[in-house]
Amino acid sequence: MNGYAVIGGGPSGLAAARALHRRGIDVDGYEASHGVGGLWDISNPRSTMYESAHLISSRTTTQFSEYPMSSRVDYPGHRELLSYFRDYADHFGLTALFRFDTTVTRLEPRAGGWDLTSEGPEGTATRHYAGVILANGTLSEPNIPSFPGAFSNELLHTSAYRSPAQLAGRRVLIIGAGNSGCDIAVDAVHHAASVDMSVRRGYHFVPRYLFGRPSDTLNRGRPLPPRLKQAVDTRVLRAFTGDPTRFGFPRPDHRLYESHPVVNTLILNHLGQGDLRIRADVERFDGATVRFRDSTSDEYDLVLLATGYRLHYPFVDHRHLHWQGSAPRLFLHIFPPSFSGLYVVGMVEASGIGWQGRYEQAELLSDYLDAVERRPSRAEAFRRRVAGAPWPDLTGGYRYLPLDRMAYYVNKDAYRRAVRRERQQLDEYAGRAHGSPSPAT
Ligand SMILES: Cc1cc2nc3c(=O)[nH]c(=O)nc-3n(C[C@H](O)[C@H](O)[C@H](O)COP(=O)(O)OP(=O)(O)OC[C@H]3O[C@@H](n4cnc5c(N)ncnc54)[C@H](O)[C@@H]3O)c2cc1C
Repeated sequence: MNGYAVIGGGPSGLAAARALHRRGIDVDGYEASHGVGGLWDISNPRSTMYESAHLISSRTTTQFSEYPMSSRVDYPGHRELLSYFRDYADHFGLTALFRFDTTVTRLEPRAGGWDLTSEGPEGTATRHYAGVILANGTLSEPNIPSFPGAFSNELLHTSAYRSPAQLAGRRVLIIGAGNSGCDIAVDAVHHAASVDMSVRRGYHFVPRYLFGRPSDTLNRGRPLPPRLKQAVDTRVLRAFTGDPTRFGFPRPDHRLYESHPVVNTLILNHLGQGDLRIRADVERFDGATVRFRDSTSDEYDLVLLATGYRLHYPFVDHRHLHWQGSAPRLFLHIFPPSFSGLYVVGMVEASGIGWQGRYEQAELLSDYLDAVERRPSRAEAFRRRVAGAPWPDLTGGYRYLPLDRMAYYVNKDAYRRAVRRERQQLDEYAGRAHGSPSPAT
């Protein structure tokens, strides 16, 4: 049996490869694209990046702690981030562990492990592994809602948006005002003939800078209790950003941090300048016309669906990942409770969790896999805990909106605490080993 396979050479796959490799665990990586970097490589066919994309969380909050970025800017662009991941992979000897241009097409359980079938330059090949780590990303498979009627001009999901040239001189409607939708709306105001944005609900807008510093670098100490943090931060936002309903957005139906906030205030500036308009939820398409729920309508050349993504693990049967509704139900979003030998890294979303948070998932996983090999009684105790004890609350006390996209959303402090606690229980030396060089470095 050949160690473990990692599917995906994006930040999460690299984190998994790094954590296992430094433990001396054999890793084979599979990457469908031509190099590492995941969706930060705009030339990766599965990338959902666009030319103007920069980090939304700030550099120091997001980077891998053991490998700080050389960039000095707070919110680097995608090209700089791709170089960072290439350097990271080379520095830790990970690049050579991956087969590139090689897509995993099937996973089947066999003989206590997994048969992994891939297609690549060597043709179709099947190899056997003790276990497989799924790190194939969460933001590649478009979530495309259906609308009554049919739109006769161009209808695109934001996953297919690359550059403002696609918007030039056109009447554009963007449906949805999440982070990508707002970024693209800001592109559009400089290039499109007109820009409208249709929203179903209100949002909380967080500026990139507060008090002259990246906003996610404030409050880094001990987390405040949720109600207090919501009250304090809502006041701060009101002082800096004002009331988004003044700009035409509906009043949010949730408190701050009960859904992913939009880190963009340029959109509010443009609304204030009359560069774009907020429209109601779409009722139906009717040729080139879009009819809205408030009985208004308009004609558009391009409708862009900024309607997010859905989880997608097309190479393995749903039952092996314990899907429940829109997401697999996994312990800490990593371990299937059946301990089938499949593991997921990167299926976690949180404000400010960054790539370090994904690396911490990988560290816990590597501790567990090491225990399977060398201290089976500890691995067994971990599995018993997962099967028997209540799973930790990862919400941090926030009441998340009951939406599909929130199915794997966590509070970063609660999540990292829970991962740390499991590492400590699994390996009394884990706390000390964390962040320090190991023989495999
Ligand atoms: C515009 C934009 C801005 C963002 N900003 C931030 C931010 O500021 N902070 C932040 O933390 N996150 C941000 N993200 C989220 C982003 O998803 C993560 O930063 C990160 O890329 C997740 O890494 P990943 O490795 O899990 O997934 P990905 O980067 O998607 O990588 C998955 C890899 O798996 C490969 N793959 C998929 N299927 C297969 C297969 N069957 N076989 C082989 N290989 C396969 C893909 O080719 C890809 O390379 C942003 C995302 C977007 C789109």
